[in-house]
Amino acid sequence: MRTSVENNSAEGNATARRVFASDPCPGSLFGHGFADVIGQYDWDETLKMVEKATEADVRKVLAKARRNVNPLSPDEFAVLISESADPYMEDMARLSRRYTQERFGKTISMYIPMYVSNACTNKCVYCGFNHDNPFTRKTLTLEEVENECKAIRRLGPFENLLIVSGEYPSLTGVEYLEKVLHVCRPYFHNLTIEVMPMKARDYHRLTRSGLNGVVCFQETYHKEAYRKYHPQGMKSHFEWRLNGFDRMGEAGVHKIGMGALLGLEDWRGDAVMLARHLRFLQKRYWRTRFSVNFPRMRPSESGFQPKSLISDRQLARLTFAFRIFDHDADISYSTREAPAYRDHILSLGVTSMSAGSQTEPGGYATSPEALEQFEVSDSRCPADVADAIRRNGYEPVWKDWDQVYDI
Ligand code: SF4
Repeated sequence: MRTSVENNSAEGNATARRVFASDPCPGSLFGHGFADVIGQYDWDETLKMVEKATEADVRKVLAKARRNVNPLSPDEFAVLISESADPYMEDMARLSRRYTQERFGKTISMYIPMYVSNACTNKCVYCGFNHDNPFTRKTLTLEEVENECKAIRRLGPFENLLIVSGEYPSLTGVEYLEKVLHVCRPYFHNLTIEVMPMKARDYHRLTRSGLNGVVCFQETYHKEAYRKYHPQGMKSHFEWRLNGFDRMGEAGVHKIGMGALLGLEDWRGDAVMLARHLRFLQKRYWRTRFSVNFPRMRPSESGFQPKSLISDRQLARLTFAFRIFDHDADISYSTREAPAYRDHILSLGVTSMSAGSQTEPGGYATSPEALEQFEVSDSRCPADVADAIRRNGYEPVWKDWDQVYDI
């Protein structure tokens, strides 16, 4: 089904009104979630905390991390991402590798994204799928979804599938996603979605249809800037998105993926907020597993330029610091990053990677010439990525979950 989206992004706003008026669980909309407590953290104070960290502070935090008695706090994490930590990168890399190997062994879990729709009612100013961008949108039929599943299986022995769509409630809402999950289930053991935030009861419904995980990016934790970047549509509601992670936890989603789009605002502020958010969720939803991803903002086809750039070295420091801060969270790297960088970092804290990614709906079965949401930097085929992992002494793991665990 090819869908030409009419200019009615008012649907996003209408959806917001319906959801806020009808959700029987208002606690997870505006209270009892991270949106309820984020106000106690001042953005500028957070940045100051990073900026004023000294080398002595870094040595103190690393000494505590080496003793490995108590988990680090988000404030201590802030010290490790500061410029004062730069002379200690090798120490940090060693610690990061050690904790990763203790928890995950020498393995990298492989996954692949499947874009099912690029229709979107939102107007995120940095995204090529922005509702105002005039191009012909595509939402896959269930038959096309199945063709994609078969094409992906021909690419490699993937068992972890990430189903991705823009946010268009009447096209890609819970009913559509439930059907997509049913189509994909026979082909993959682990199904994760990266779609519009939903109500807790919808997440729960999807977990009963085979959903294992949900990935959502808060994009930025800077509330005022968030409003500027997301002027219209359901996504303009900062609290709705932020408390979405609590709704996932309440619904019993097995694994929650989190991240911010680094470069929208000062990456250090978003990184510390992400660390605080993770700790908050871990205390509440202690049965849930978590993953984090550090996508770097790139110029999009809409012409958007990032506000701040994060260098390769800073991204590596962030990765090491996060692993030292949290030994258990999956750290995921996508094909947004270049092959040489991914090959280098894979033994230093990363635990999962995508490969062979196509970011157009139907891209695996038909290879259409279509607009991409972001540029894929690592375009190697999955077998070549797996070979690179093995050359680094690591094992690519295609399957780390079985449907029997869902029972
Ligand atoms: S970032 Fe997501 S929600 Fe925003 S315009 Fe792009 S596809 Fe839509």
